[in-house]
Amino acid sequence: MKSPAPKNANEFTAPPNFIKHIIDEDIKAGKNDGRIHTRFPPEPNGYLHIGHAKSICLNFGLAEEYRGLCNLRFDDTDPAKEEVEYVESIKQDVRWLGFDWQDRQYHASDYFEQLFEFAIQLIKKGKAYVDSLSSDQIREYRGTLTQPGKNSPYRARTIEENLDLFERMRAGEYDEGEHVLRAKIDMASPNMLMRDPTLYRIKKVPHYRTGGMWVIYPMYDFTHCLSDSIEGITHSICTLEFEINRELYDWVLDQLEVYHPQQIEFARLNLNYTVLSKRKLIRLVEEGHVNGWDDPRIPTLSGLRRRGYTPESIRNFCERIGVAKADSMVDIALLEYCIREQLNKIAPRVMGVLRPLKVIIDNYPADKVEELGAINNPEDPDMGTRKIPFSRELYIEQDDFMEEPPKKFFRLAPGREVRLRYAYFITCVDVVKDSATGEVTALHCTYDPQTRGGDAPDGRKVKGTLHWVSASHALSAQVRLYEHLFVKENPNAVKEGKDFTAYINPNSLEILTNCMVEPGLAAARPGDRYQFERLGYFSVDTKDVGPESLVFNRIVTLRDTWAKILKAQQQKK
Ligand code: ATP
Ligand code: MG
Repeated sequence: MKSPAPKNANEFTAPPNFIKHIIDEDIKAGKNDGRIHTRFPPEPNGYLHIGHAKSICLNFGLAEEYRGLCNLRFDDTDPAKEEVEYVESIKQDVRWLGFDWQDRQYHASDYFEQLFEFAIQLIKKGKAYVDSLSSDQIREYRGTLTQPGKNSPYRARTIEENLDLFERMRAGEYDEGEHVLRAKIDMASPNMLMRDPTLYRIKKVPHYRTGGMWVIYPMYDFTHCLSDSIEGITHSICTLEFEINRELYDWVLDQLEVYHPQQIEFARLNLNYTVLSKRKLIRLVEEGHVNGWDDPRIPTLSGLRRRGYTPESIRNFCERIGVAKADSMVDIALLEYCIREQLNKIAPRVMGVLRPLKVIIDNYPADKVEELGAINNPEDPDMGTRKIPFSRELYIEQDDFMEEPPKKFFRLAPGREVRLRYAYFITCVDVVKDSATGEVTALHCTYDPQTRGGDAPDGRKVKGTLHWVSASHALSAQVRLYEHLFVKENPNAVKEGKDFTAYINPNSLEILTNCMVEPGLAAARPGDRYQFERLGYFSVDTKDVGPESLVFNRIVTLRDTWAKILKAQQQKK
């Protein structure tokens, strides 16, 4: 039997998640007494982006679904790059997404003393040694993918000597680079990471939490597995690039004979027309290509939040993209689809004109004002109706008028009749132009009083419906329109000699300062979201607020490119 065809292009069934399958099997086998404990382990060296949201939704989501726990752990072993500002922003973002780590906020730096003790144990087992080669020499000795490495002459140091040197490293007796602590594994391993990886380095930089207490810091591979072990993590979920680190993860835990979580790798999120790497985002911010970490054009959670995205839409997006083992590129249109889908249901409709063109209704009395009824959301009758003022002078959108319209242009033109949404049919009778530039500055129209809020009694039809505002009642506003930040679908795939910044879209931000919006928006508060009829979804900016200025960010247009993509895919099948 054929499976029933989806009712519409957007029908959604959650894609399979192979990690749930692993967890189900573990529960069946009675592993960890059926306990599920995950963690989200950011390094506080930048702001979170939507790729992190995928990891947050996965880790916290699994804990929720299996009635387990998820820790928030700051992986803070590089004092040179980490800051409290980042810790705070990360906590804010995780909370905003709707997740709660309760009392389980941990820091790798909480474990520095324990980690040091673990290192001592490794030395005592003859599994770690202090190396005094320079970093260049270490690299040289490591070999290549095709050639085995060779042992450092210091590899044969006695346990006593190693213990003594390591303690003195901690005491600050040496300079950076003079010594490192290395695992003693196998300089000929086919896995380069297993060729005696560095476990500790000297770094005389104060740490944002431990201050000047330490001058040696543990490396990621040593810290991560042991932090997982200390916290009793059952499933240590990370992105695919850590697949080769798993051998080392397992080695450290096995040598120390401690509780051993299972590392599972999944494909990281890649989104087209943007970058999802903290290193690149930092550059965009620090080099001034964008205006800070919360610039609505970048995919940081603070940027998306300021743009007007909701946490629900981002969780929904993460659900839809699924969790797989193979890398792929997700279309940013899907993210836009997710917010559009939600706002279609919850955002009130309003009218606003981005590029105003004055319309004078010649046969409408100069002192008359009518309050016309408008529907707040046709998708939700409970949202009710409102009144909008209509008067002799209005604004419409400049590009809703053409003096010499081409064939398929159904909006206003000389002699042409159109409908004004919720108001009347109007006919353009005259065009006023700037005598110097020839630019159209105003239109004279007439209205048909018999068409108020409906059709013409004589049954005559119009093809266009325009949005408008009453000139004397409208509020002025600033509107910021956004395009993709990059002109290239994959800005990471750079041509030789070029940098990803070469593909920044010069039109990614357009600021319109003379917009006119309906008077009811005087009640709009920072963060409120609206559909401007025919123009898209907008949010009131949360940062640039003042008594005089209403500032809107366009979240997305109304055009649903994702539905189109899906439809095309289904037709191909
Ligand atoms: P970036 O690669 O952007 O610099 P990172 O991996 O260095 O990020 P971390 O702070 O170490 O950033 O990441 C915390 C967690 O988020 C890790 O478990 C990491 O695997 C996960 N993560 C980071 N980027 C993505 C992504 N694009 N998709 C899914 N998970 C991600
Ligand atoms: Mg990382």
